[in-house]
Amino acid sequence: MSKFAQVTVKNNRYIFSGDFHHICPNQPIRDLDNNGRLTGITNPRDMTYVHSYGGEAVFFENLSRGKIHGSRCDNPECEFTGTVYLPFRIHCPDCLAKNTVIDLTDICKTSARIHTFMVCERSGAFNTLAKPMKFINIEFDGVATILMSYLSVGEPRIGMRVKPIFKTTDPTYTILDLSWVPEDTQKNQLPPGFSFG
Ligand SMILES: [Zn+2]
Repeated sequence: MSKFAQVTVKNNRYIFSGDFHHICPNQPIRDLDNNGRLTGITNPRDMTYVHSYGGEAVFFENLSRGKIHGSRCDNPECEFTGTVYLPFRIHCPDCLAKNTVIDLTDICKTSARIHTFMVCERSGAFNTLAKPMKFINIEFDGVATILMSYLSVGEPRIGMRVKPIFKTTDPTYTILDLSWVPEDTQKNQLPPGFSFG
């Protein structure tokens, strides 16, 4: 088994170690209706993609600590100054100034409710969520945007009050570290690795 690909940053540069791609043998594709005649080959491809979070890194870092950060336009020249965004937006979509990072954890814990939802029985490739997947759109007091996430306990309902849970044990540093449960959910009902923060 090869070493996992690792990336660190030093002197403002990526430092790579480990294997970023793996060579796997091709396999023949044979036509069973024609005496096993060769019709092609499979080309296995397995590579590690390096994805930079840039200005959104603070959002993912804080999820692992049980905190939800959004952003706010504080540009006094902006027509919509004071607008709060979650999901996190690095820049204001109206004036393009850099937004201020703000902690929305308390607002999320006290005012989150399901705007609408979608239950999916099937997934695309690389899905790790339990099926059926209960995708929810969540609204918050004082926030201009709606957050897309997933419900981990119970059944979704429009207008239902929910509270956030966080994968604080072995976080993935992706959006999957944030999930939601009905407001009366107890600690012992949470999925493995998740906590109330
Ligand atoms: Zn603005």
